Amino acid sequence: MNLILLGAPGAGKGTLASYLVEKMGVPSVSTGNILREAIKNNTPLGQKAKQFMDAGQLVPDQLVIDLLKERIAQEDCANGFILDGFPRTIPQAEALDEIAEIDCALSLEVADAVIEGRMTGRRVCLQCGATYHIKANPPQKEGVCDKCGDKLHIRKDDKPDVVQHRLATYHEQTEPLKAYYGNQGKLKSIDGAQGIIQTEQLAVQALGL
Ligand code: AMP
Repeated sequence: MNLILLGAPGAGKGTLASYLVEKMGVPSVSTGNILREAIKNNTPLGQKAKQFMDAGQLVPDQLVIDLLKERIAQEDCANGFILDGFPRTIPQAEALDEIAEIDCALSLEVADAVIEGRMTGRRVCLQCGATYHIKANPPQKEGVCDKCGDKLHIRKDDKPDVVQHRLATYHEQTEPLKAYYGNQGKLKSIDGAQGIIQTEQLAVQALGL
């Protein structure tokens, strides 16, 4: 299955994606993680993306479309993939339609106020991409990734003023994708404001897994 996870930043797409990777046996592709990795390694892509990401703005469409195309052409995506954080604009969705057949866009519905609380507690592993929350999903040892043992970080774009900006960008540019996939008969929506396990159960039901 080729699945898209839609939802505001902080809605829980990354956490749900990790679960669905195990359940569905296909990889998840997070454009945000790929870009953060590029910044960490100071590649040309990272240098171009950094200023946009630090400011909570979207990276230009062509840049992410190119990197996504390259990623889903890799062999591990041949039997399906889960997209986390792509597409984020209508031109990205149109470009995706030209290279892959999407089966479902699953939207995680979470109110802005809940998101704001979540993002300030988020911690990420820059090494393996795992995400945690200091209250809802803490690592076993504070500040250390359970999966790979690397140090956990607060993302620059999880700071409160940047979060506000990212939410506004989401409503303006990404939320219209619900109508885009709704018109194609591919949209499913679930409540993402519950706990992690409830969200996983709702996703399993919605996807008929
Ligand atoms: P995420 O980890 O998905 O929240 O993405 C973090 C940041 O990476 C976003 O705020 C954007 O600056 C950038 N980014 C990730 N995916 C995309 C995308 N599909 N289109 C444009 N920018 C993106």
